[in-house]
Amino acid sequence: MSRKRILITGAAGFLGSHLCDRFVKEDYHVIGMDNLITGKLRNIEHLFHLENFEFFNYDVTRFIHIHGKLDYILHFASPASPIDYLKIPIQTLKVGSLGTHNCLGLALEKKARILIASTSEVYGDPLVHPQNEDYYGNVNPVGPRGVYDEAKRFQEAMTMAYHTYHGVETRIVRIFNTYGSRMRLNDGRALPAFIGQALRGEDITVFGDGSQTRSFCYIDDLVEGIYRLLHSDYHLPVNIGNPDEISIKDFAEEIIELTGSDQKIVYKDLPKDDPLQRQPDITRAKEILGWEPNVSRKKGLKLTYDYFKSLSKEELMSKEHNNFEKFIKKN
Ligand code: UDP
Repeated sequence: MSRKRILITGAAGFLGSHLCDRFVKEDYHVIGMDNLITGKLRNIEHLFHLENFEFFNYDVTRFIHIHGKLDYILHFASPASPIDYLKIPIQTLKVGSLGTHNCLGLALEKKARILIASTSEVYGDPLVHPQNEDYYGNVNPVGPRGVYDEAKRFQEAMTMAYHTYHGVETRIVRIFNTYGSRMRLNDGRALPAFIGQALRGEDITVFGDGSQTRSFCYIDDLVEGIYRLLHSDYHLPVNIGNPDEISIKDFAEEIIELTGSDQKIVYKDLPKDDPLQRQPDITRAKEILGWEPNVSRKKGLKLTYDYFKSLSKEELMSKEHNNFEKFIKKN
C-alpha cells in the first residue's frame, strides 16, 4: 500500500520539525516546506537522507504546487514570538492570511484534510479564565500583537469558510505556550530567554512584576494532541495545552533552580498588551480526543535544558536569531 502523503508548512520551525519527526516515524511520506525566515535547516537535516522525507525552501504566501496526490496538510508556517511580530509584522500577516488561503486552496484541489495551527493568542488578554473554545477573546487589533492575533483569527474564519462553503475537511488547533528542544535561543520567549541567560551567566529578565501567568506544555504532548485531532472527525477549534499554570516569576525561579545557577532576577517593563493570565480549558480535547498532557514541567524542563546545554558556545553567545534582514529586502 502506498504511503499517505502529508505537506507540513513551517517544517523547519520548532513545532513543524517535531511534527515532521512524528509523521516520518508513522511512515507517512512527509513533504516539508519552509522559507527559513525563522526556521532552521538544522532542525530537519537529520531527515534529509530518508526516502519518505523531502523539503522545499518555499514561501507559502505564493501559489503552492505539489506534484501528485496529497492526503493531509498541516499549516504551521508563521513567526510565533512577540519579537518576530515586531520585526516582521507584514510577513506575519501574510502567512496567516495569504499563506492560509493557499493551503486551503491546495486542500480543496487535492481533496486533502487540512489542520491549521491557531493559537491561544486568539483569546488576547483574556477576561475569562481558564479559556475554553467558546470564549471569543479580547484582542487589540492595533497593538504590537495585533498582526499575529488578527492573522490567526482571520485564519480560523477562512478555514471555517472553506469547511462550510467548499466542504473541505478542516481541523483547527489552538496551541497554548509550548516548549522543548529546537526553540530559538533568542526569539524573545520566556523559556529560551531564561535558560540562555542562566547558561551565559546573565541576570534573568522578568517583565513586569512577574505575576502574569502562563501554562507550559511539553512538545511531545502537543504533537500527540495534534496527531489525534488530525485523525478525528471534529472540525471546530480544540485547545491543546497543559493547564498547569504558573506565574512568570515562579517560572524564572524554577529555571534558576534547574540550572543550578546563582543568577538574580531583574525586572523590566511589561511589554504592551502582554496577557496577564493564560490557562487552557482542555475539557473538549479530553472528551473528543481522549487527550491530556502527561509530561510534568519538571521532566519537560529537564529535557529542554539538556538540549540547550548541548548547543555550542558560539550558538549560546550569538545574538543572531533569524534571517530577517535577508528576507525583508526581498518582500
Ligand atoms: N517574559 C519575561 N522575560 C523574558 C521573556 C518573556 O518575563 O525575557 C514574559 C513575557 O512578558 C510573558 C511571559 O514571559 O509575560 C511569556 O512570554 P512568551 O513570549 O514566552 O509567551 P507569550 O507572551 O506569547 O505567551
